Amino acid sequence: MPTGVRHAEVAGGGLAGLTVATALAQRGWSVRVHERGRELREIGAGIFMWENALRVLEGIGAFDEAIGRAERIGSWKLYDERQRLIQDDWMKGDETRLYTVLRTDLHRALGNAARRAGVEIVTSSLVAGASPDGELFMESGDVHKADLVIGTDGVGSPVRNSIGLDLAVRDLQDGCGRHLIPRLPHDPVNNALEYWNGGRRVGIVPVTPEQVYVYTCCPAKDLDGRERPFNTESWSRSFPTLRDVFDRIPDVSRWASFSDVSCHRWVKGRVALVGDAASAMSPNLGQAACLAMTNGYAMAMMLDGRADVPSGLLGWEARQRPVTDATQRYSRLYGRVGTRWPRPLADVRSALVWAAGRSQRWQECVNVAAHQGADLVGQAHRSDTT
Ligand SMILES: Cc1cc2nc3c(=O)[nH]c(=O)nc-3n(C[C@H](O)[C@H](O)[C@H](O)COP(=O)(O)OP(=O)(O)OC[C@H]3O[C@@H](n4cnc5c(N)ncnc54)[C@H](O)[C@@H]3O)c2cc1C
Repeated sequence: MPTGVRHAEVAGGGLAGLTVATALAQRGWSVRVHERGRELREIGAGIFMWENALRVLEGIGAFDEAIGRAERIGSWKLYDERQRLIQDDWMKGDETRLYTVLRTDLHRALGNAARRAGVEIVTSSLVAGASPDGELFMESGDVHKADLVIGTDGVGSPVRNSIGLDLAVRDLQDGCGRHLIPRLPHDPVNNALEYWNGGRRVGIVPVTPEQVYVYTCCPAKDLDGRERPFNTESWSRSFPTLRDVFDRIPDVSRWASFSDVSCHRWVKGRVALVGDAASAMSPNLGQAACLAMTNGYAMAMMLDGRADVPSGLLGWEARQRPVTDATQRYSRLYGRVGTRWPRPLADVRSALVWAAGRSQRWQECVNVAAHQGADLVGQAHRSDTT
């Protein structure tokens, strides 16, 4: 590495790790990403990318490849168990963009952007922990010294745990099945649809010209709801009008549990946490990865030209964290209302959701990450260029 070039070691080659690595490399850092898997790979079906993440994709030059065959979503409709439309206002009058993207497309685009920026990606490379002085400890016994160590190693994060930043990893006791089904002419176009019945929720969202992303959420204790292969009969009893969708769900669909990660701090010395390692949340607002990407990008911007990495990291946490913490809280609340609401009070829930949809204040709260996150990226851009 040439003298004077700062070096970053990144643990984990997921959406957060690849984004922050690319943004740093594009600002002159030498960056190495360690991924435990034998190859860089993303599993799952579709993913919502809100305005804040879309700006990051533009900033690192990955937008066209990631969004090439994604679907722009213009409205989000929510129906209750009596087929009443109880929410159609989430995105009304809002200039922020929303796309649904295939996870594999997104991850591939980020991997390619990282390689173009000169990031070194090492696979089958298992991280054991880190030290605040800027050391990354490998399971192999190797120690890598860096100006900056980033833990983007997911919910279980050995980096976070090894330096005592962890406060709690909470299993939220609910989760969802994620499915890709063939798209038919009568499926929604540029629309996200969500249906609620008791503790079950179904989302139906076009994701490519050929595929629709379907998610089926329920409490973890709903054994029929989480059964693999997908239990078409049980879900059709809850949502009779959606049988045509359930019939298209393949046997090889996946179940994911939801967790919340809370940390004392995201930063200790030269080590910082980004993404699920720092702030995993339920995906109810579709913002966990968007915020991971926004926060990683903002970090690279804010460290640019700053000699003192530890103090730059503290400033970064102070600026980015409030929006992430708020989004985590709202996402948890959405999950409680959607999954844990007492069934006899279903009509009360519908009335509340309908009223919330008309509240400007509530709309601003649930969209805080898309709006402020986009502004933060903009501000970081401006401070970067002045
Ligand atoms: C059902 C579901 C739907 C979701 N939908 C959305 C959505 O619509 N929009 C949105 O923004 N977010 C969504 N999310 C959240 C999003 O998927 C995550 O926030 C995001 O994937 C986290 O990325 P990450 O890079 O922080 O962590 P991860 O994706 O977990 O990546 C961590 C990486 O680190 C590697 N790793 C782990 N340990 C080690 C180690 N010891 N050494 C080396 N490498 C290691 C792993 O192999 C992995 O590649 C959803 C989540 C779920 C479960």
